[in-house]
Amino acid sequence: MSLIVTGTVAFDTVETPYDKRERCLGGSATHFAAAASALTDVGLVAVVGNDFPDTDLESLRKLGIDCTGVEVADGKTFFWAGRYEADWNTRHTLDTQLNVFEHFDPKVPTSYQNSDFVFLANAAPELQMKALGQFNNPKLVVADTMNLWIDIARDSLCELLTKIDGLVLNDEEARMLTGENNLLQAARKVLELGPRLVILKKGEHGAFLIGEGLHFSLPAYPVEKVIDPTGAGDSFAGGFMGYLASVGNTDPQTMRRAMLYGTATASFCVEGFSIEGLQTRRRSEVEARFNELYSFITI
Ligand code: AMP
Repeated sequence: MSLIVTGTVAFDTVETPYDKRERCLGGSATHFAAAASALTDVGLVAVVGNDFPDTDLESLRKLGIDCTGVEVADGKTFFWAGRYEADWNTRHTLDTQLNVFEHFDPKVPTSYQNSDFVFLANAAPELQMKALGQFNNPKLVVADTMNLWIDIARDSLCELLTKIDGLVLNDEEARMLTGENNLLQAARKVLELGPRLVILKKGEHGAFLIGEGLHFSLPAYPVEKVIDPTGAGDSFAGGFMGYLASVGNTDPQTMRRAMLYGTATASFCVEGFSIEGLQTRRRSEVEARFNELYSFITI
């Protein structure tokens, strides 16, 4: 297996300015895996409750996602509810119920342990470290985090930062983690904490990548009809890591290309609720948006 993700598989209730969906398939690892599956083999390490329908697991498998690492525990699946303001960039979390995720002890299947690419999707940093400790020398480990963990688990998060290669976070989280208002300075401060790469996401304003000898900035792919931005960040990471894993390379030029793959992939995610926007597309469709995006940014 070339790429492994650990994080949440969830039920999400999402309210947008135009519509509402109750208890649809969501979760940080779900969006990541669905996004990456168009580009590479992906294995999922997660927990669901015994309320999780087989049909949802089947739809993940249909995308080619290996679910050997998905444990079914006694109890309810992780639940999250959120509401978006009309500007799409402001999101209010209305509810988070950890349920079976609260006592999740990730077990990385032996068949995943030699994978070169590992993504630690949004979860408690302690849990991310538990999963990471079970891999044998991966080539590239990237993690995501969120304001909640910066707030309540900063020490563990700082420990995690010394063990990973890259961190993906949004502008607000970067400011919160480093105390720096300027995003470039915030990114540099994150690099001082351990990782050699930082990807800063700025929602509809795009993302930038910074590392040693590497600075790349990219606008978002312009989507005309946004349906639901939930999972856009995870899908970005799925496209980014999925491309890197598919070419097995992490040189700076490949990283820049991966940023375009991440951006193109995230644009599919926001075109539907849950993983609907990600479900129908193939590598060729991602590549068509890659080429379009490339033409938008070159002169
Ligand atoms: P994103 O829009 O990329 O930030 O990801 C949204 C997804 O993250 C949703 O599908 C949620 O189920 C999931 N999520 C929300 N809060 C948490 C949390 N505290 N830990 C892990 N996953 C979460």
